[in-house]
Amino acid sequence: MDQRFELPGFSGTLFHPDHADYDASRKVYNGMIDRRPAVIARCSSAADVVLAVNLAQAKGLTLSVFGGGHAVTGTAVCDGGICVDLRGMKRIDIDPAAKTCRAEAGMNWGEFDAATTARGLAMTGGRNPTTGIAGLTVGSGSGWLERKFGYVCDNLIKAEVVTADGRQVIASDTENPDLFWGLRGGGGNFGVVTAFHFRLYDLPPAILGGVLLYPAPMAGAVLKNFRDFMQTAPDEVSGGMVFTTAPDAPFVPPPARGQPVAMLQLVYAGDPEEGARVLASLRAFGPPAADLLQPTPYTVLQTQGGNFPGTQNYWTADFLSQLPDEAIDAYAKLALTPISPQSAIIIVAGGGAPSRVAEEATAFGMRTAPWNVHYICAWTDPADNAKNIERVKAAASVLKPWATGRVYLNYIGDEGQARIEGSFGAEKLARLRALKTKWDPQNFFRHNQNIRPA
Ligand SMILES: Cc1cc2nc3c(=O)[nH]c(=O)nc-3n(C[C@H](O)[C@H](O)[C@H](O)COP(=O)(O)OP(=O)(O)OC[C@H]3O[C@@H](n4cnc5c(N)ncnc54)[C@H](O)[C@@H]3O)c2cc1C
Repeated sequence: MDQRFELPGFSGTLFHPDHADYDASRKVYNGMIDRRPAVIARCSSAADVVLAVNLAQAKGLTLSVFGGGHAVTGTAVCDGGICVDLRGMKRIDIDPAAKTCRAEAGMNWGEFDAATTARGLAMTGGRNPTTGIAGLTVGSGSGWLERKFGYVCDNLIKAEVVTADGRQVIASDTENPDLFWGLRGGGGNFGVVTAFHFRLYDLPPAILGGVLLYPAPMAGAVLKNFRDFMQTAPDEVSGGMVFTTAPDAPFVPPPARGQPVAMLQLVYAGDPEEGARVLASLRAFGPPAADLLQPTPYTVLQTQGGNFPGTQNYWTADFLSQLPDEAIDAYAKLALTPISPQSAIIIVAGGGAPSRVAEEATAFGMRTAPWNVHYICAWTDPADNAKNIERVKAAASVLKPWATGRVYLNYIGDEGQARIEGSFGAEKLARLRALKTKWDPQNFFRHNQNIRPA
């Protein structure tokens, strides 16, 4: 029989394999992942996290950290070890005068956005309400407000962290600034963050956002126009082009329902009337089969992406250095043949606030790429895995000639150590490895996109 680990003094809930909620608690977004921790420790405080870390260290057990369970790598759960589950820690305190908040690490973006917008404030956040704030933030954090407000990690003021040796420390510009640097893009390699302190911004109750929907054969022409538009677009505009399958829904014009489509997904982070003026030329182009841009609460816009928890997921991504016509002509063909109805390929425009932060200011590996392409491929039948994974890899090969060689780590599954290390570049990788050697010399936090100690 498996060893049963107990945690004297633990104030949260322990889910052992015989617990009625064990199976539900070990499920992650990617249905390909089926791991069985010896115990899932749903923590209710930083002190609980310390207990779990100390137990794993004492027993030589693997430790995984579960924020929202959305990483397609499935690293939130481990086999046979301790899963530090933060979903019992969801307190948020907002200071409207200072426009800051302290959010515990078990919150997801739906919970975070609901709390901040209730006070008329917002920050860049993940484009899906059930994604955890924790994994997304330590991986940098891209979202629809980023060109205006920066990446999520650019808005981190301070983090409360439990280290590999079970200490509780603060990471900020003034306390442990090296750790603070590493937490902004270096992933879960340096400790377990128990709370994040973020800057917040005023945002109107409704902002202009939504999609312009085109038949898939128009993908190339629309993407070229969008590329040219984004060259001079103000920071308020964030957006990307999505190749996907239109849902069979009333808002989709009947000929497009269930068909491959190319959608421009757009957000104007400011006054909606000004947004309508700025986006007028994009809306006129084509014209789109459906113009679904309208003033919408930010929390509603945040629910408009695909969400298929439990499906089989294979994702990959690339930062691009440029997007010439030749690249678009080749890439646009992918719009015609979606991998599955649940799949999407999205190319997001860079620039704006994140590109003006100094490259060396954070661990995040690539700020200046004008485009980030993300293959978000999902399907329902595991029997299709081998065939579909090959199809995704073939699709992703089309834009490789224009890829920077760097990748946004939040957007990929397990593609091997070289891909992780390559995402930072040699100089930053050396700095990250030195940091790892200082904060986690035994590589205790290794069930992640791992940075090895020097
Ligand atoms: C539907 C969907 C939409 C997404 N949209 C976006 C998007 O718009 N922008 C974007 O940037 N990414 C997006 N992602 C990717 C997402 O950022 C990553 O999957 C991220 O890891 C999810 O965070 P999580 O807390 O849910 O992760 P988990 O799977 O719980 O954790 C992943 C890893 O993060 C680390 N980690 C988690 N919690 C902590 C902690 N408290 N302290 C230290 N390390 C920790 C650990 O290494 C862990 O293995 C999306 C993913 C999905 C499934």
